Amino acid sequence: MPFFNKMRKLNSVRWLFLSLGIVAVLALTAMNIYSLYALRESTIEAAKDNKKSQLDEFTFQVRHQFGGPFRELRKLDIEKLESSWNVSGNFPAHFIDVLGKASEDPLYDDIYYNPSDSDACYDDTQPLYKFDPELKMFTMVDEVPDLVCDGFGISNSRVKALIDEYRFNNKVTFDAHRSMNLALINLDDKVVIGHLNFTINRDYLINEIIDKKLKEQFGPTDKTGIVVWLRDWIQDDILSSSDEQYTYNRDVYEIDMRQRFPEMLENWILHASFLQSPTVAATNASLTRNLIVLGFAVIVLFGALVFMFINAQRERELAQRQAGFLANITHELKTPLAVMQAAGENISDGRVKDGQRLKSYGEHIYNESVRLRKMIEKLLDVAKVDSGQTVLEQAPHQLDDLVTDFVKSNKQYIQSKGFDLNFDSDSDLPLVMIDPDHLETILNNLIENAIKYSSDTKQIDIQLTKNSDDVEISVADKGDGMAKKVQKLIFEKFYRVENSLTAKTKGHGLGLAIVKNMVELNGGTIRVESTEGKGSTFTVSFPALIKGQDQYEPTSFAPQSTDSEIKNIDSKQYV
Ligand code: ADP
Repeated sequence: MPFFNKMRKLNSVRWLFLSLGIVAVLALTAMNIYSLYALRESTIEAAKDNKKSQLDEFTFQVRHQFGGPFRELRKLDIEKLESSWNVSGNFPAHFIDVLGKASEDPLYDDIYYNPSDSDACYDDTQPLYKFDPELKMFTMVDEVPDLVCDGFGISNSRVKALIDEYRFNNKVTFDAHRSMNLALINLDDKVVIGHLNFTINRDYLINEIIDKKLKEQFGPTDKTGIVVWLRDWIQDDILSSSDEQYTYNRDVYEIDMRQRFPEMLENWILHASFLQSPTVAATNASLTRNLIVLGFAVIVLFGALVFMFINAQRERELAQRQAGFLANITHELKTPLAVMQAAGENISDGRVKDGQRLKSYGEHIYNESVRLRKMIEKLLDVAKVDSGQTVLEQAPHQLDDLVTDFVKSNKQYIQSKGFDLNFDSDSDLPLVMIDPDHLETILNNLIENAIKYSSDTKQIDIQLTKNSDDVEISVADKGDGMAKKVQKLIFEKFYRVENSLTAKTKGHGLGLAIVKNMVELNGGTIRVESTEGKGSTFTVSFPALIKGQDQYEPTSFAPQSTDSEIKNIDSKQYV
């Protein structure tokens, strides 16, 4: 069958495209999420790098403070310094000027000089010199402070270690934050002529230089997103911070970066903690926004894909069923016509004269024409439903009356098919708005099905039940029932359960689709409960015109009220 082969091919293509679509959406989503996170990481990294260079810059500036007076030192001729010292016990005037400026700098307390040929720290008969800013010269001191000796010692051993390859005429060495030492080197002879020691004013360094600069560069934290503390790690003491509101506490603030001062202030370290910086906060917010939009787009995309796929599947099934239906219905229309044609031909030819045979031919023609009419009516019903042309002539009705009439006129037919028919109804049913012709079609179809799909126990029970909001009509049989999974499909057009029983029975899968449509047109709902081998119950419920048990006079309305009567009723009682 080329039609079905084509359908199958199309179906495989549809599955292929659905899978490709899903894979593409997933890949795109994964890629997007990955790039969003990568972008966020790189922004955070850039923010970190930026802060790292700010810290570098900070330590550089602090270091720069110490070098102020000595920028010109490299140009000095150390030999001249040495000879001046040896001759006059003082340095040349321009160098004295440099030292004068240094002594005015509040960063330094005192300036000492220890010539290499003197060893005042180990031998108290040897001299140590201290710079006198008033006299602008070095004078000998009796007391040799430990702080100064520590500085000389460190400077001495540092220079000794590197003097052979050293290319500069001076070397600065720090004794932590206590003193800055300047070794004066004669590069020609590779000897140190002496060490200058500048004792550092710790309070000034912390309060006037570091603290001010920290606050200037990194505070306030709310704006900069960073807090920096100066910590003495030997003393375990916080000396300064960029924002006093943030107390150093490693349980609260994670230390993201540590920065030392290069070759100076060794026991001091800067600890920096990155709180939410404005850039990172903006990146995070944009990430969240993007993720939400992406998530929403993916859901919509998936929804659309699945919706289109399911729709296409449905249409395919419908097309298949319709194709099957057309083949069937053509056959079924032809059969009664052929019977009628043959019977009619025999009678019109005058070949059949016998009264008994004439009667039997007539019956054939009658029965087949009834069958044909029913089939055509059903087709018309479907066509009307499809084109939305079903005419609805609703009026308030007492269902009890309508169903009783139906039972009366169909009882004989049902019993002729070997069925027991029981009808039971609650009393005082409320009125419902319904088109009686539709109700008849609904009941006809349900009863036809009960008859068709009951092979052993042949019993049909019709029951009318009143609830607080609606009235229910149930049609129950004790027939073959159906599996759970097909129960929600049976109301679809052209759907027939495929089993040996339906193969034997005639039908096109239209009855229940028409029933459902008519029930819904009349504002009702339909449901089915069924167990294989035990039977099925179809329950149709229509909303009661008056909810609850508020009373009205059902008999005061004729079942077939006219439109104007309905309006009257509406205005008087129901609105
Ligand atoms: P048709 O009877 O022409 O196949 P319907 O739309 O009336 O079409 O019913 C759809 C399917 O539902 C049937 O093919 C049948 O398998 C199942 N069905 C309907 N009524 C019953 C019933 N009372 N008992 C068991 N199966 C039923």
